[in-house]
Amino acid sequence: MPQIFRQEEIEYNDLQSDLKPYKWYSSPRLSDLGKSKDLFLNMRELDPDKYSYPYHLANKNRRKFNKLYWIMLVITLCGFTNPAKELKVTYLANCGYLYESSKSKVLIDPFGTEYGGFFYLPSNETMLNIIKGNVPFDKIDLLLITHIHGDHFNAKLTESFLLNNIKAKMICPAQVYKQMKDSCKSFDMIKSQIISPTLSLSEMRKIKINDISVSVIRMQHGSVRSLEGVSYSDYTDYEKTENFGYLIHFDKKIVFHQGDACLKLNEKALKAIDCPVDIAYLSYFDWDSTSLNILKKNLKAQTVIFMHATKPAKELESEQFKEITPQLTFFRKELESKVFN
Ligand SMILES: [Zn+2]
Repeated sequence: MPQIFRQEEIEYNDLQSDLKPYKWYSSPRLSDLGKSKDLFLNMRELDPDKYSYPYHLANKNRRKFNKLYWIMLVITLCGFTNPAKELKVTYLANCGYLYESSKSKVLIDPFGTEYGGFFYLPSNETMLNIIKGNVPFDKIDLLLITHIHGDHFNAKLTESFLLNNIKAKMICPAQVYKQMKDSCKSFDMIKSQIISPTLSLSEMRKIKINDISVSVIRMQHGSVRSLEGVSYSDYTDYEKTENFGYLIHFDKKIVFHQGDACLKLNEKALKAIDCPVDIAYLSYFDWDSTSLNILKKNLKAQTVIFMHATKPAKELESEQFKEITPQLTFFRKELESKVFN
C-alpha cells in the first residue's frame, strides 16, 4: 500500500562526523515508518552553503531536488511494498467477509437473510452487488459457506451468484448442497461449480482451487455440550447442523474461519491445524479468554477478529469481554476494509 510522508512530520537527527565540523541530518528509516520489509531508505540533509560539489549543486537546487526526491521516495516505497504479502479483508456483516490477495478473491458466508433481529446482516444493496459481480466483488474465485443457518446462507441468492459468476467455485457442507439441489431451479447449470466433501466430525480435507489452497474441517456447531462420543441418534436437530471451518491459504497469509463452531468444543478438529495462522476469529459462540488463548497459543494467531456480534452487541460491555477487548480487532461497519501486511 502506498505510504505518504509529509516532510514537515519527519524528525531529523543530527549525525556528527568524526571530522569536525562535518555533520548531517538523518531521518528515521522511511521504510520502517511505511512498514516496508523489502526496502530500507532514509533521508539525509546537509547544511546549506557548506559543502563542495556534489552537495553544493544539490543545495543550489535544493527546493527542486527535495521535491523530486520525495516523489521518487514515495514511488519507490509504493513499488517495493510487496503486494503478495498483503491481504485485504472487507467486512460484510455477521460472519461474512471478502478476502482479496494479489492473486485471488474469496467470499465467506455473504448471504445472511434471517435472524436480523438478533444479528447484523448484509444490506440488500451489498448482496446485489455480490450477485452482479460489481467491484469489489468482481472475479470472485471461491465462495465458502460454513453452514446452512439463515444468518449465513440463502439458497436462492447463492444460486443467482453462481449463475452470474460462472468461474466462481463454491465449497459447502452436504446439508447446504442438498438444500441447493432441492430448491434451486437452475441447479443443473451450477452443480459443477459446487464442491461438497463428506467429512466426519473433526476430519480435514485439503482442496486446491486455482491459486488458493483450502483445508476444510468439519467442526461441531456451537452447543452447550461436546458431541465427542455422543451417538448421532442422540443429537438434537440443532446439533446435527453440519458446520465447516476453513483454513484458507492465500499467497503469504493464512486465515482460519470457524463459522459457528465453538473453539472449546472442537479441540480434536483444531489439532489438525499444524501451521501458524495469520488471521483468526472469535465469535458469539465463544468470546472468552480461554477461546482467545486457543487461537493465540495453539494456532499462533497474529490477528483475532471478533465476528457474529449480537444486536445491540451488549456482550462488548461485559467485564469478561472487556478483559480481552485490547487483543481483538473489530470491524464496525458494513464494507469496512483492513489491509494486513
Ligand atoms: Zn449457526
